[in-house]
Amino acid sequence: MTNTAIRVTNASKTFGAHLALKQVSFSIEKGETVALLGASGSGKSTLIRSLCGLEVLDASHGKIEVCGELIQSNGIRSATLKQSRQKIGVIFQQFNLIGQLDLMTNVMIARCPHMPLWRILGRRFTQEDRALAAETLDKVGLLAHANQRASTLSGDQQQRAAVARALVQGANVILADEPVASLDPEAARNVMEILQELTQALGLTLLVSLHQVSLAQRFCARTIALRQGSIVFDGPGSKLTQQALADLYGCQVSEFEHAEIHSSEQPITHVPHRLIAV
Ligand code: ADP
Ligand code: MG
Repeated sequence: MTNTAIRVTNASKTFGAHLALKQVSFSIEKGETVALLGASGSGKSTLIRSLCGLEVLDASHGKIEVCGELIQSNGIRSATLKQSRQKIGVIFQQFNLIGQLDLMTNVMIARCPHMPLWRILGRRFTQEDRALAAETLDKVGLLAHANQRASTLSGDQQQRAAVARALVQGANVILADEPVASLDPEAARNVMEILQELTQALGLTLLVSLHQVSLAQRFCARTIALRQGSIVFDGPGSKLTQQALADLYGCQVSEFEHAEIHSSEQPITHVPHRLIAV
């Protein structure tokens, strides 16, 4: 059995005349916690959307596999994508909960992802579904709010509920696209802590795109950085120096000026030439 959770081979994606991903290749082992960094427009969302089959890559020998199952290749989604998607939990910046429904129902919905909403609402969930949802809401500190409408909760509570939903789904791989971008710093740390602790405790693989370098360094053992659709760094976040970050973000230095980063004297051992060359 393969130990690889995510394998991306030669992934390119063009929007009109714009190349959003340029022959991206990497793999992530099961249980790894990986941050995806890059300035706005560098291709993070396109990559994450491609990983779960929401975006189709260019027909140029690109291939994506998750948990040993094909998601897409040569610009065609796999025929088994629906089944494979069950193993991939996706968390978005906008929480994507149904505001009018209580948290418990929002979380239980993840147990039947392919059922239309009108059927879900008319269906009685099993005791097992309820118990699992309650247990998971407890893990993310939200059991007391289980019967509260999602729209009445704060941003970090909604995002913690989105984490619970991904876990209840039974996902082996969690893809989170800027899950804390709209939260204040304390709420962001709170959500990241829960995301990291629970995925580690359950042996899940986490790929999370982030804007804040400090969060990547604190919560993820490995960082993959994109610049203009190409991977320009792949290694421990601690190896991202001031210079590497300046190269990565161009003039958007303010985005990482509060990061707990190492001094620029420390040698970068991970592909500095690529950082500078791009
Ligand atoms: P990031 O998430 O890092 O901000 P994106 O993956 O959203 O970057 O976007 C990468 C590039 O692709 C950007 O230049 C963006 O404008 C472009 N892009 C993304 N999605 C689309 C789309 N559906 N149509 C056209 N261009 C797009
Ligand atoms: Mg994005």
